[in-house]
Amino acid sequence: MKHDNSNALFKRAEEYIPGGVNSPVRAFKSVGTAPVFAASAHGSHIVDEDGNSYLDYICSWGPLIFGHSPNYLLEGLTEAVSRGITYGLPTAAECEIAEIICHAYPGLDMVRMVNSGTEATMSAIRVARGYTGRNKIVKFEGCYHGHSDALLVSSGSGTLTYGVPTSPGVPAQVVADTLVCRYNDHENIREVFSACGDEIACIIVEPVAGNMGLVPGRPEFLRTLRELADAYGSVLIFDEVISGFRAAYGGAAELYGIRSDIACFGKIIGSGLPVGAYGGRRDIMACVSPSGPVYQAGTLSGNPLAMFLGIKSLRLLQNHPEIYAELENKGKKLQQGMEENIRELNLPYRVVRCGSLLTLFFCEGEVNCYDDVKRCDTALYGRYFRGMLEQGILLPPSQYECMFLSQAHSDEDIAETVEKQRIVLKELI
Ligand SMILES: *Cc1c(COP(=O)(O)O)cnc(C)c1O
Repeated sequence: MKHDNSNALFKRAEEYIPGGVNSPVRAFKSVGTAPVFAASAHGSHIVDEDGNSYLDYICSWGPLIFGHSPNYLLEGLTEAVSRGITYGLPTAAECEIAEIICHAYPGLDMVRMVNSGTEATMSAIRVARGYTGRNKIVKFEGCYHGHSDALLVSSGSGTLTYGVPTSPGVPAQVVADTLVCRYNDHENIREVFSACGDEIACIIVEPVAGNMGLVPGRPEFLRTLRELADAYGSVLIFDEVISGFRAAYGGAAELYGIRSDIACFGKIIGSGLPVGAYGGRRDIMACVSPSGPVYQAGTLSGNPLAMFLGIKSLRLLQNHPEIYAELENKGKKLQQGMEENIRELNLPYRVVRCGSLLTLFFCEGEVNCYDDVKRCDTALYGRYFRGMLEQGILLPPSQYECMFLSQAHSDEDIAETVEKQRIVLKELI
């Protein structure tokens, strides 16, 4: 497979863009190769600038639940452009998407549109702090909630001591109120609440963690979060930026039957255009300006084109609930095929899946939290990734990102993936 044009573009990009990319994972750094530059995509396939075609399991990291640019989604988009790209005035489309999201998601009364997942979680935390009048927040190691300052933190020497910024440029004071707990460990979070529960404004969690590879929350863990938030008057924030409208139409909240007080969305609700949203109970959302004192704004928030695609996608998902059963079946087929390969080759690795999200972890034993996934052989993942790429299968370029399946992935696509995986795994060992 030739990558001359991608390589030349990467050189050119590196001159004017830090690391040659506008988001770090795209640089393929952790899999030890140069990135492929996308030229076009349709359905389940991406074509790169050298004309190579790949079966795509990145799917733009989640927004493309229907695959790339299906005609039924694009219909009417150019007409929408001709009606105006943005106004800086409210539109009917914003009413419509707010109604759809509130009706879809358990316990959601009101929602505010923003432009990214990062903005959604950052704003949700501000609202939770404003609502409770408290400063401390709790997050979990290995969960990603975007790149706002207070969330770029790791646990350091222990849960009850100060968190440590994970990036230069984040002052220690900014993360001093962020407590970092262990995911799926209900004892750990109980300890933290007994020590300072009265000072905790909110718990933010990915109910289905998708940013340390796929690690679904255990029901008892998520139930404990609900219970503690209720007992101490803290706000429970579900970050459903990946899992919203994917784990189920009503997100992980529907899947687990557990409600949050605020939920954050992104990815699927914009269907590929830049969108985020946060919403929650009426008394909480009433704090948001201009109805309340907690400031939050956005020049392009509720952008008409993003709303157009978002409404279309969410209506399709609402009117075709069978899509979730289909995605579950496809995911199961892929998982079973991969597990057969692993068994046949006597490898100790494991596949973790939740619906259309899936990760093959190159480690032994159970995977429940960040400490577990850190044991993965990431160098081996890099070789696996490169082997699959040469076979025309585009996997996430990191052990710690999930594979995304879409409606466009056919049974033949999945069979092809399993077959090629067997070839690549055989060569690895
Ligand atoms: C992607 C993601 C975000 C950040 O969204 P951006 O649109 O990249 O800012 C936040 N939370 C989770 C769970 C995500 O997967």
